Amino acid sequence: MFYWDHAASTPPYEDVIRTIAEVMEQHYGNPSSMHQWGEDSSRLIKHAREVCSRALDVKPSEIIFTSGATEGNNLAIKGATLQYMNRGKHLITTQIEHASVYESFQQLQQWGFEVTFLPVDSQGCVDPASIREAIRKDTVLVSIMHVNNEIGAIQPIEAIGDMIKRCNPRTIFHVDGVQGFGKLPVDLTKWQVDLYTLSAHKFRGPKGIGLLYVREGLKLTPILTGGAQESGLRAGTENVPLIVALAKAMRKASEQQESFNSNVSTMRDQIHTTIQEIKGLKLHSHDGSAPHIVHFSYPGMKSEVLLHTLEEQGILVSTRSACSSKQSEPSRVLLSMGLSIEEASSGIRISMGDMHTEDELRLLQQALRISVEQLEPLQRGRMG
Ligand code: PMP
Repeated sequence: MFYWDHAASTPPYEDVIRTIAEVMEQHYGNPSSMHQWGEDSSRLIKHAREVCSRALDVKPSEIIFTSGATEGNNLAIKGATLQYMNRGKHLITTQIEHASVYESFQQLQQWGFEVTFLPVDSQGCVDPASIREAIRKDTVLVSIMHVNNEIGAIQPIEAIGDMIKRCNPRTIFHVDGVQGFGKLPVDLTKWQVDLYTLSAHKFRGPKGIGLLYVREGLKLTPILTGGAQESGLRAGTENVPLIVALAKAMRKASEQQESFNSNVSTMRDQIHTTIQEIKGLKLHSHDGSAPHIVHFSYPGMKSEVLLHTLEEQGILVSTRSACSSKQSEPSRVLLSMGLSIEEASSGIRISMGDMHTEDELRLLQQALRISVEQLEPLQRGRMG
Protein backbone atom coordinates (compact mmCIF):
# COMPACT_ATOMS: atom_id res chain seq x y z
CA MET A 1 0.00 0.00 0.00
CA PHE A 2 1.14 3.56 -0.70
CA TYR A 3 0.14 6.16 1.83
CA TRP A 4 -0.92 9.59 0.55
CA ASP A 5 -2.91 10.74 3.56
CA HIS A 6 -0.29 12.60 5.59
CA ALA A 7 -2.57 15.51 6.47
CA ALA A 8 -4.71 13.01 8.40
CA SER A 9 -1.69 11.61 10.22
CA THR A 10 1.93 11.14 9.27
CA PRO A 11 4.31 8.38 10.47
CA PRO A 12 6.34 9.26 13.57
CA TYR A 13 10.12 9.54 13.19
CA GLU A 14 11.86 6.32 14.27
CA ASP A 15 13.79 8.06 17.04
CA VAL A 16 10.55 9.61 18.27
CA ILE A 17 9.08 6.11 18.64
CA ARG A 18 12.22 4.94 20.47
CA THR A 19 12.08 7.97 22.77
CA ILE A 20 8.53 7.12 23.82
CA ALA A 21 9.54 3.58 24.81
CA GLU A 22 12.65 4.80 26.64
CA VAL A 23 10.79 7.41 28.66
CA MET A 24 8.01 4.95 29.48
CA GLU A 25 10.55 2.43 30.71
CA GLN A 26 12.94 4.70 32.52
CA HIS A 27 10.99 7.73 33.70
CA TYR A 28 7.61 6.62 34.97
CA GLY A 29 7.63 8.81 38.05
CA ASN A 30 4.68 11.20 38.30
CA PRO A 31 5.99 14.70 37.55
CA SER A 32 3.96 16.02 40.49
CA SER A 33 5.65 13.66 42.99
CA MET A 34 8.10 15.39 45.32
CA HIS A 35 10.73 12.65 45.30
CA GLN A 36 13.65 12.35 42.92
CA TRP A 37 11.86 10.24 40.31
CA GLY A 38 9.04 12.75 40.19
CA GLU A 39 11.56 15.50 39.73
CA ASP A 40 13.25 13.54 36.92
CA SER A 41 9.96 13.45 35.03
CA SER A 42 9.30 17.07 35.80
CA ARG A 43 12.72 17.99 34.42
CA LEU A 44 11.97 16.15 31.17
CA ILE A 45 8.80 18.21 30.75
CA LYS A 46 10.68 21.41 31.49
CA HIS A 47 13.26 20.61 28.83
CA ALA A 48 10.55 19.65 26.31
CA ARG A 49 8.78 22.94 26.98
CA GLU A 50 12.00 24.82 26.25
CA VAL A 51 12.53 22.94 22.99
CA CYS A 52 8.95 23.64 21.86
CA SER A 53 9.20 27.30 22.80
CA ARG A 54 12.41 27.68 20.79
CA ALA A 55 10.74 26.15 17.74
CA LEU A 56 8.04 28.85 17.97
CA ASP A 57 10.35 31.61 19.19
CA VAL A 58 8.23 32.20 22.30
CA LYS A 59 8.75 31.80 26.06
CA PRO A 60 8.60 28.35 27.70
CA SER A 61 5.95 29.63 30.12
CA GLU A 62 3.70 30.34 27.12
CA ILE A 63 3.47 26.63 26.14
CA ILE A 64 0.64 24.47 27.51
CA PHE A 65 0.72 20.76 26.65
CA THR A 66 -2.64 19.26 25.63
CA SER A 67 -3.89 15.91 24.34
CA GLY A 68 -3.92 17.25 20.78
CA ALA A 69 -5.38 20.03 18.71
CA THR A 70 -9.01 19.15 19.37
CA GLU A 71 -8.41 19.83 23.04
CA GLY A 72 -6.16 22.82 22.28
CA ASN A 73 -8.81 24.44 20.09
CA ASN A 74 -11.56 23.81 22.65
CA LEU A 75 -9.41 25.25 25.44
CA ALA A 76 -8.36 28.30 23.43
CA ILE A 77 -11.82 29.21 22.16
CA LYS A 78 -14.01 28.35 25.14
CA GLY A 79 -11.33 29.20 27.70
CA ALA A 80 -10.72 32.72 26.33
CA THR A 81 -14.39 33.45 25.60
CA LEU A 82 -15.50 32.47 29.10
CA GLN A 83 -12.58 34.29 30.74
CA TYR A 84 -13.25 37.55 28.92
CA MET A 85 -17.05 37.49 28.55
CA ASN A 86 -17.19 40.77 30.46
CA ARG A 87 -15.78 42.34 27.25
CA GLY A 88 -18.75 41.21 25.16
CA LYS A 89 -20.60 38.34 23.55
CA HIS A 90 -19.45 38.53 19.95
CA LEU A 91 -17.07 36.04 18.29
CA ILE A 92 -15.71 35.66 14.75
CA THR A 93 -14.52 32.59 12.88
CA THR A 94 -14.82 31.19 9.34
CA GLN A 95 -17.08 28.73 7.58
CA ILE A 96 -14.16 26.41 6.80
CA GLU A 97 -12.63 25.69 10.22
CA HIS A 98 -11.86 22.22 11.49
CA ALA A 99 -14.77 20.66 13.39
CA SER A 100 -13.01 21.15 16.74
CA VAL A 101 -13.14 24.91 16.12
CA TYR A 102 -16.44 25.08 14.27
CA GLU A 103 -18.35 23.03 16.82
CA SER A 104 -16.79 24.91 19.74
CA PHE A 105 -18.35 28.06 18.28
CA GLN A 106 -21.68 26.29 17.72
CA GLN A 107 -21.65 25.32 21.39
CA LEU A 108 -20.87 28.90 22.39
CA GLN A 109 -23.84 30.01 20.26
CA GLN A 110 -26.03 27.66 22.28
CA TRP A 111 -24.62 29.25 25.43
CA GLY A 112 -25.81 32.68 24.25
CA PHE A 113 -22.81 34.07 22.34
CA GLU A 114 -23.20 35.64 18.91
CA VAL A 115 -20.92 34.16 16.26
CA THR A 116 -20.06 35.56 12.80
CA PHE A 117 -18.95 32.75 10.45
CA LEU A 118 -16.99 34.56 7.73
CA PRO A 119 -17.29 33.32 4.14
CA VAL A 120 -14.30 32.46 1.94
CA ASP A 121 -13.59 33.16 -1.73
CA SER A 122 -13.45 30.56 -4.50
CA GLN A 123 -9.91 29.61 -3.42
CA GLY A 124 -10.94 29.11 0.20
CA CYS A 125 -9.39 32.35 1.51
CA VAL A 126 -10.76 34.86 3.99
CA ASP A 127 -10.60 38.51 2.94
CA PRO A 128 -9.01 40.54 5.80
CA ALA A 129 -11.44 43.36 4.89
CA SER A 130 -14.31 41.08 5.95
CA ILE A 131 -12.85 41.15 9.46
CA ARG A 132 -13.02 44.96 9.45
CA GLU A 133 -16.70 44.74 8.55
CA ALA A 134 -17.51 42.05 11.11
CA ILE A 135 -15.46 43.16 14.12
CA ARG A 136 -17.19 45.15 16.86
CA LYS A 137 -16.39 46.75 20.20
CA ASP A 138 -17.76 43.65 21.91
CA THR A 139 -15.83 41.10 19.79
CA VAL A 140 -13.99 38.95 22.32
CA LEU A 141 -12.18 36.54 20.02
CA VAL A 142 -11.38 35.83 16.36
CA SER A 143 -10.30 32.31 15.36
CA ILE A 144 -8.88 31.65 11.88
CA MET A 145 -6.93 28.59 10.77
CA HIS A 146 -3.51 28.97 9.12
CA VAL A 147 -3.91 26.22 6.50
CA ASN A 148 -7.17 24.50 5.69
CA ASN A 149 -6.94 20.76 6.26
CA GLU A 150 -9.18 19.83 3.34
CA ILE A 151 -8.14 22.02 0.42
CA GLY A 152 -4.83 23.44 1.69
CA ALA A 153 -5.88 27.12 1.39
CA ILE A 154 -3.41 29.38 3.23
CA GLN A 155 -5.02 32.25 5.09
CA PRO A 156 -3.37 35.70 5.11
CA ILE A 157 -2.73 35.42 8.85
CA GLU A 158 -0.40 38.41 9.14
CA ALA A 159 -2.87 40.74 7.39
CA ILE A 160 -5.74 39.34 9.46
CA GLY A 161 -3.81 39.83 12.72
CA ASP A 162 -3.00 43.36 11.68
CA MET A 163 -6.63 44.09 10.84
CA ILE A 164 -7.92 42.65 14.13
CA LYS A 165 -5.48 44.59 16.28
CA ARG A 166 -6.05 47.84 14.38
CA CYS A 167 -9.84 47.55 14.63
CA ASN A 168 -9.97 46.33 18.23
CA PRO A 169 -6.71 45.82 20.14
CA ARG A 170 -8.59 43.99 22.90
CA THR A 171 -9.89 41.26 20.58
CA ILE A 172 -8.03 37.99 21.12
CA PHE A 173 -6.62 36.28 18.02
CA HIS A 174 -6.52 32.47 17.90
CA VAL A 175 -4.92 30.50 15.08
CA ASP A 176 -5.34 26.76 14.50
CA GLY A 177 -1.83 26.13 13.20
CA VAL A 178 -2.11 22.36 12.82
CA GLN A 179 -1.66 22.05 9.06
CA GLY A 180 0.83 24.89 8.67
CA PHE A 181 3.57 24.12 11.18
CA GLY A 182 6.57 22.37 9.59
CA LYS A 183 5.27 23.21 6.14
CA LEU A 184 5.30 27.01 6.10
CA PRO A 185 7.17 29.68 8.08
CA VAL A 186 5.47 30.65 11.35
CA ASP A 187 5.96 33.97 13.14
CA LEU A 188 3.56 34.36 16.05
CA THR A 189 4.91 37.76 17.11
CA LYS A 190 4.70 39.30 13.65
CA TRP A 191 1.23 37.79 13.16
CA GLN A 192 0.08 39.25 16.52
CA VAL A 193 -1.31 35.87 17.52
CA ASP A 194 -2.48 35.39 21.13
CA LEU A 195 -3.35 31.69 21.01
CA TYR A 196 -1.92 29.06 18.65
CA THR A 197 -2.79 25.35 18.49
CA LEU A 198 -0.60 22.45 17.31
CA SER A 199 -0.89 18.68 17.13
CA ALA A 200 2.18 16.40 17.07
CA HIS A 201 0.87 13.67 14.77
CA LYS A 202 0.76 16.10 11.86
CA PHE A 203 4.53 16.63 11.97
CA ARG A 204 5.82 13.11 12.62
CA GLY A 205 5.21 13.06 16.34
CA PRO A 206 2.77 10.75 18.15
CA LYS A 207 -1.02 11.03 18.28
CA GLY A 208 -2.70 12.20 21.47
CA ILE A 209 -0.37 15.09 22.24
CA GLY A 210 -0.24 18.72 21.17
CA LEU A 211 0.27 22.16 22.55
CA LEU A 212 -1.40 25.48 22.94
CA TYR A 213 0.64 28.68 22.88
CA VAL A 214 -0.91 31.21 25.26
CA ARG A 215 0.57 34.70 25.00
CA GLU A 216 2.00 35.95 28.27
CA GLY A 217 -0.55 37.90 30.28
CA LEU A 218 -3.58 36.25 28.65
CA LYS A 219 -5.79 34.28 31.02
CA LEU A 220 -7.98 31.31 30.15
CA THR A 221 -10.78 29.62 32.05
CA PRO A 222 -9.65 25.97 32.20
CA ILE A 223 -11.91 23.37 30.60
CA LEU A 224 -10.38 20.46 32.53
CA THR A 225 -10.20 21.15 36.25
CA GLY A 226 -8.89 19.13 39.16
CA GLY A 227 -5.14 19.68 39.23
CA ALA A 228 -2.50 22.39 39.04
CA GLN A 229 -0.63 20.91 36.06
CA GLU A 230 0.19 23.14 33.08
CA SER A 231 -0.11 26.36 35.11
CA GLY A 232 -3.58 25.27 36.21
CA LEU A 233 -4.86 25.42 32.63
CA ARG A 234 -4.97 21.71 31.98
CA ALA A 235 -5.53 19.42 34.94
CA GLY A 236 -4.39 15.81 34.73
CA THR A 237 -1.12 13.90 35.05
CA GLU A 238 1.16 14.94 32.21
CA ASN A 239 1.89 12.38 29.48
CA VAL A 240 5.66 12.57 29.89
CA PRO A 241 6.68 10.15 27.08
CA LEU A 242 4.46 11.89 24.54
CA ILE A 243 5.51 15.38 25.66
CA VAL A 244 9.18 14.46 25.19
CA ALA A 245 8.35 12.91 21.80
CA LEU A 246 6.38 15.99 20.74
CA ALA A 247 9.36 18.22 21.49
CA LYS A 248 11.69 15.99 19.50
CA ALA A 249 9.40 15.93 16.46
CA MET A 250 8.78 19.65 16.73
CA ARG A 251 12.45 20.55 16.71
CA LYS A 252 13.03 18.41 13.62
CA ALA A 253 9.95 19.72 11.84
CA SER A 254 10.94 23.32 12.38
CA GLU A 255 14.57 22.68 11.34
CA GLN A 256 13.41 20.87 8.19
CA GLN A 257 10.55 23.19 7.26
CA GLU A 258 12.24 24.73 4.23
CA SER A 259 13.46 21.47 2.75
CA PHE A 260 10.09 19.84 3.44
CA ASN A 261 8.37 22.66 1.63
CA SER A 262 10.56 22.51 -1.45
CA ASN A 263 10.44 18.67 -1.67
CA VAL A 264 6.69 18.38 -1.46
CA SER A 265 5.93 21.45 -3.61
CA THR A 266 7.78 19.88 -6.54
CA MET A 267 5.77 16.71 -6.14
CA ARG A 268 2.55 18.66 -5.64
CA ASP A 269 3.11 20.51 -8.94
CA GLN A 270 3.58 17.20 -10.76
CA ILE A 271 0.36 15.79 -9.29
CA HIS A 272 -1.46 19.01 -10.23
CA THR A 273 -0.31 18.62 -13.84
CA THR A 274 -1.58 15.03 -13.95
CA ILE A 275 -4.96 16.01 -12.53
CA GLN A 276 -5.30 18.84 -15.04
CA GLU A 277 -4.57 16.39 -17.84
CA ILE A 278 -7.28 13.93 -16.81
CA LYS A 279 -10.63 14.79 -18.35
CA GLY A 280 -13.45 15.12 -15.83
CA LEU A 281 -11.31 16.04 -12.82
CA LYS A 282 -11.51 19.50 -11.33
CA LEU A 283 -8.53 20.82 -9.38
CA HIS A 284 -9.16 22.94 -6.30
CA SER A 285 -5.68 23.31 -4.78
CA HIS A 286 -3.18 25.49 -6.65
CA ASP A 287 0.39 26.81 -6.70
CA GLY A 288 -0.35 29.23 -3.89
CA SER A 289 -1.93 26.71 -1.52
CA ALA A 290 -0.19 24.51 1.08
CA PRO A 291 2.69 22.49 -0.38
CA HIS A 292 1.51 19.13 1.02
CA ILE A 293 -2.17 19.12 0.02
CA VAL A 294 -3.67 18.37 -3.38
CA HIS A 295 -7.42 18.60 -3.65
CA PHE A 296 -9.66 17.84 -6.60
CA SER A 297 -13.13 16.59 -7.35
CA TYR A 298 -14.66 14.23 -9.88
CA PRO A 299 -18.11 15.78 -10.25
CA GLY A 300 -20.83 13.19 -10.62
CA MET A 301 -18.84 10.53 -8.74
CA LYS A 302 -19.17 10.18 -4.98
CA SER A 303 -15.81 10.67 -3.27
CA GLU A 304 -15.92 7.23 -1.65
CA VAL A 305 -16.17 5.48 -5.03
CA LEU A 306 -12.99 7.07 -6.37
CA LEU A 307 -11.28 6.61 -3.00
CA HIS A 308 -11.95 2.86 -3.04
CA THR A 309 -11.04 2.52 -6.72
CA LEU A 310 -7.67 4.11 -5.90
CA GLU A 311 -7.35 1.87 -2.85
CA GLU A 312 -7.82 -1.23 -5.05
CA GLN A 313 -4.63 -0.09 -6.76
CA GLY A 314 -2.81 0.34 -3.48
CA ILE A 315 -3.22 4.11 -3.15
CA LEU A 316 -4.55 5.48 0.13
CA VAL A 317 -6.09 8.96 0.00
CA SER A 318 -8.84 10.82 1.81
CA THR A 319 -12.25 12.17 0.93
CA ARG A 320 -11.82 15.15 3.26
CA SER A 321 -10.42 15.71 6.73
CA ALA A 322 -10.14 12.42 8.60
CA CYS A 323 -12.32 13.71 11.44
CA SER A 324 -15.33 14.27 9.20
CA SER A 325 -14.71 11.67 6.48
CA LYS A 326 -17.42 9.38 7.84
CA GLN A 327 -20.09 12.07 7.44
CA SER A 328 -22.28 11.64 4.40
CA GLU A 329 -23.18 15.29 3.72
CA PRO A 330 -21.23 17.26 1.12
CA SER A 331 -18.16 19.05 2.45
CA ARG A 332 -18.94 22.28 4.34
CA VAL A 333 -15.57 23.66 3.21
CA LEU A 334 -16.22 23.09 -0.50
CA LEU A 335 -19.76 24.47 -0.30
CA SER A 336 -18.38 27.63 1.34
CA MET A 337 -16.05 28.07 -1.62
CA GLY A 338 -19.10 28.19 -3.88
CA LEU A 339 -18.83 24.67 -5.29
CA SER A 340 -22.01 22.84 -6.28
CA ILE A 341 -23.39 20.03 -4.11
CA GLU A 342 -22.26 17.60 -6.79
CA GLU A 343 -18.70 18.93 -6.68
CA ALA A 344 -18.71 19.14 -2.90
CA SER A 345 -19.72 15.47 -2.69
CA SER A 346 -16.93 14.27 -4.94
CA GLY A 347 -13.79 15.77 -3.35
CA ILE A 348 -10.55 13.84 -2.93
CA ARG A 349 -7.54 14.94 -0.90
CA ILE A 350 -4.04 13.66 -1.61
CA SER A 351 -1.60 14.73 1.09
CA MET A 352 2.13 14.23 1.18
CA GLY A 353 5.01 13.62 3.49
CA ASP A 354 8.58 14.17 2.37
CA MET A 355 9.46 10.49 2.07
CA HIS A 356 7.77 9.53 -1.22
CA THR A 357 9.95 8.17 -4.02
CA GLU A 358 9.75 9.01 -7.73
CA ASP A 359 8.37 5.50 -8.34
CA GLU A 360 5.60 6.04 -5.79
CA LEU A 361 4.71 9.30 -7.47
CA ARG A 362 4.50 7.57 -10.87
CA LEU A 363 2.27 4.85 -9.39
CA LEU A 364 -0.04 7.50 -7.97
CA GLN A 365 -0.28 9.33 -11.29
CA GLN A 366 -0.95 6.06 -13.10
CA ALA A 367 -3.58 4.99 -10.56
CA LEU A 368 -5.40 8.31 -10.99
CA ARG A 369 -5.54 7.84 -14.76
CA ILE A 370 -6.63 4.19 -14.54
CA SER A 371 -9.28 4.89 -11.89
CA VAL A 372 -10.93 7.66 -13.88
CA GLU A 373 -10.82 5.49 -17.01
CA GLN A 374 -12.55 2.69 -15.09
CA LEU A 375 -15.17 4.95 -13.58
CA GLU A 376 -15.84 7.09 -16.63
CA PRO A 377 -18.71 4.99 -18.06
CA LEU A 378 -20.39 5.05 -14.65
CA GLN A 379 -19.86 8.80 -14.32
CA ARG A 380 -21.12 9.49 -17.84
CA GLY A 381 -24.29 7.55 -17.02
CA ARG A 382 -24.86 9.63 -13.88
CA MET A 383 -24.06 12.95 -15.50
CA GLY A 384 -26.21 12.10 -18.52
N1 PMP B 1 -7.25 21.30 13.35
C1 PMP B 1 -6.89 20.92 12.12
C2 PMP B 1 -6.72 21.94 11.04
C3 PMP B 1 -6.68 19.55 11.86
O1 PMP B 1 -6.31 19.17 10.62
C4 PMP B 1 -6.84 18.61 12.90
C5 PMP B 1 -6.62 17.13 12.65
N2 PMP B 1 -7.38 16.61 11.61
C6 PMP B 1 -7.21 19.07 14.16
C7 PMP B 1 -7.41 20.43 14.35
C8 PMP B 1 -7.42 18.13 15.32
O2 PMP B 1 -6.20 17.61 15.76
P1 PMP B 1 -6.10 16.35 16.72
O3 PMP B 1 -6.11 15.15 15.81
O4 PMP B 1 -4.79 16.50 17.41
O5 PMP B 1 -7.23 16.38 17.66
